[in-house]
Amino acid sequence: MPAVVMDGKALAAKVKEQVRSQVEPMSQKPGLAVILVGDNPASRVYVNGKKKDCGECGIYSEEYALPEETTQEELLELIGALNDRADVDGILVQLPLPKHLNEKEVLLAIRPDKDVDCFHPFNVGQLMIGEEGFQPCTPAGVMRMLEEYGIDPAGKHCVIVGRSNIVGKPQAMLMVKKNATVTICHTKTRDLKAECLRADILVAAAGRVGLITGDMIREGAVVVDVAMNRNDQGKLCGDVVYSQAVEKASYITPVPGGVGPMTRAMLMENTLYAARCHGKV
Ligand code: NAP
Repeated sequence: MPAVVMDGKALAAKVKEQVRSQVEPMSQKPGLAVILVGDNPASRVYVNGKKKDCGECGIYSEEYALPEETTQEELLELIGALNDRADVDGILVQLPLPKHLNEKEVLLAIRPDKDVDCFHPFNVGQLMIGEEGFQPCTPAGVMRMLEEYGIDPAGKHCVIVGRSNIVGKPQAMLMVKKNATVTICHTKTRDLKAECLRADILVAAAGRVGLITGDMIREGAVVVDVAMNRNDQGKLCGDVVYSQAVEKASYITPVPGGVGPMTRAMLMENTLYAARCHGKV
């Protein structure tokens, strides 16, 4: 039987509606500042999407579209000013930054209580030790989707393909918190197929078209495809060969319409969370 398709678009709409209904009665609205440096077209699309989401949720948003030649000092100065503003609860710097800018230093400059992307080492540490706090948007979106479909990771073997700081590693932390047994794979993994075949829940986040074929998926596994790649025809696709995987999996996420919309919805939740932490009611 083909897998149940997990509809990230519909669930994201539901999450955003929940955020909107909580924001509506607030006397001081949550505020999000989005900084975009340079003119990367993909980044522009992402930023537009985030602004649209804010509008839908009743969250106040400000965009700073800075020229490519912006200096590190200018960027840090802007972040410093936003850090000090009470109407701004969240600060998001759209990545990647132009090569001449020091990304690490920029992310460190964002005050941890305004770090809605959960990239600051303080928040990453909180996540690591299982404390309450911001949750990184993409992995949190995956967890929310599993929850919605009644998939409890407890006791399950979760295999994550990818060990980046924004997806693979935090995904592992959230899975462990939910009592999954976790394997993280990467380019030095000796036998990727064998590892994937052990998965009750397989999370693909490698950014490689066609990496996960049907023969790498155990009958009945849950398959979550985080990747957003472009194939030879320029079409958006994941790491998983969907037509094969859908015949093996019990649940599967599509690309597009799976994890992507959930990532955006989680940013709205994080901004609301930041506002609450700042005492806005
Ligand atoms: P990344 O920083 O490039 O990391 C990719 C990871 O995959 C690395 O750990 C790499 O291993 C591993 N990998 C690459 N090829 C592999 C292979 N052949 N076998 C095993 N492991 C392999 O990418 P990322 O930022 O985590 O993003 C991953 C994908 O998710 C991309 O397609 C990206 O566009 C997408 N993404 C989607 C969302 C969303 O909202 N849906 C959000 C963020 C990212 P090494 O460490 O050994 O190099």
